[in-house]
Amino acid sequence: QLYFDHNSTTPIAPSVQEAILPFLAHFYGNPSSSHPLGIASREAVEDARGQTASLLGCDVDEVIFTSGATEANNLALKGVMGRHSRATGGHLVISAIEHASVRATAEYLERQGFDVSIVPCTDQGVIPPEQVRSALRNDTILVSVMHASNETGVIQPIRAIAEICHERGVLLHTDATQTVGKIRTLVDELEVDLLTLSGHKAYAPKGIGALYVRRGVQIEPIMHGCGHEAGLRSGTENLVGIVGLGRALSLASKSLDPAAERMTLLRDKLISELRAGIPEPIVVFGELATRLPNTLYVSFPSVVGLDMLRMIPELQASTGSAAYSDTNSISHTLEAMGVAADVARGSIRLGVGWYTSEEDVERCASLLIHAWETLR
Ligand code: PLP
Repeated sequence: QLYFDHNSTTPIAPSVQEAILPFLAHFYGNPSSSHPLGIASREAVEDARGQTASLLGCDVDEVIFTSGATEANNLALKGVMGRHSRATGGHLVISAIEHASVRATAEYLERQGFDVSIVPCTDQGVIPPEQVRSALRNDTILVSVMHASNETGVIQPIRAIAEICHERGVLLHTDATQTVGKIRTLVDELEVDLLTLSGHKAYAPKGIGALYVRRGVQIEPIMHGCGHEAGLRSGTENLVGIVGLGRALSLASKSLDPAAERMTLLRDKLISELRAGIPEPIVVFGELATRLPNTLYVSFPSVVGLDMLRMIPELQASTGSAAYSDTNSISHTLEAMGVAADVARGSIRLGVGWYTSEEDVERCASLLIHAWETLR
């Protein structure tokens, strides 16, 4: 199998698998129990919290484990806005290219009586900080702009946006699901107040994620119960997921730069082979912007991306975010970038990962070139 869909999900790293096995087999105690099995589980949860905090450069008490990025995004937006009375209103700003878990949450908050503004992006898929400034109002409470797009891989100027928000006393949340474990994601460098991450985009299991909440930032829980996770996320901890997340992030932190360098080379090799083999121009979305090292979102000329992928069952890739892969509808990100419908329909997103080899890249390119020639 040629796996080129690492922005959708990653395999579980072998050492992560090893780390979680004992917690499937032997250490099943409830981390809240005070007997030895419970204490062992609590220690494992707190070790993983330390590993997560270390990658983000924050304190352990600023990390809240959730069921994934969707929940973390919900908790960030509903949690911050929920602290403010609906009667007095409040304004939320998001970008036009956010993941559905941010966009749909913003729509929900709008139905609850909050105002929402959406900041547009450039044709390269970048959110200009000055556009965020123009969207701010006196009653703006929170801005949410993703760190990097899951589709284009374009990395956003988060720190510049943070400076603008903080000048006005506005909180900034970033969905860093696609950057954590791929590039440096230090909360103090980014100057963010809240940050979302997900395990299964970073070689940990699915169903685990976290929200970083800067100390002093007040949020309302969305899950009520026994008061786990500092009262912000009740429910017995996903011990296996948490242990896996901690191990995966500690693994990532050990080789962030070399892994990024290697992925950049593979990604660049992939596009140069595709361009060498296809005589008509291939569009690379966000090509002029700073992008994630692993992501190549391209449009093949005069064909439909989905038709190409259907011809190559061996190649595991998507036409865009998972939300669009089965339909002919156009991704909201490409729409926001002003991409013409026929160009958008030719798109395929190729994401390399830790275990992608040069041979995989060569095979992927040759299969895509062959499919294009056949369809053309
Ligand atoms: N945010 C971004 C940018 C994503 O790419 C994803 C992945 O689908 C999510 C949020 C949702 O993550 P999860 O599957 O952990 O809920």
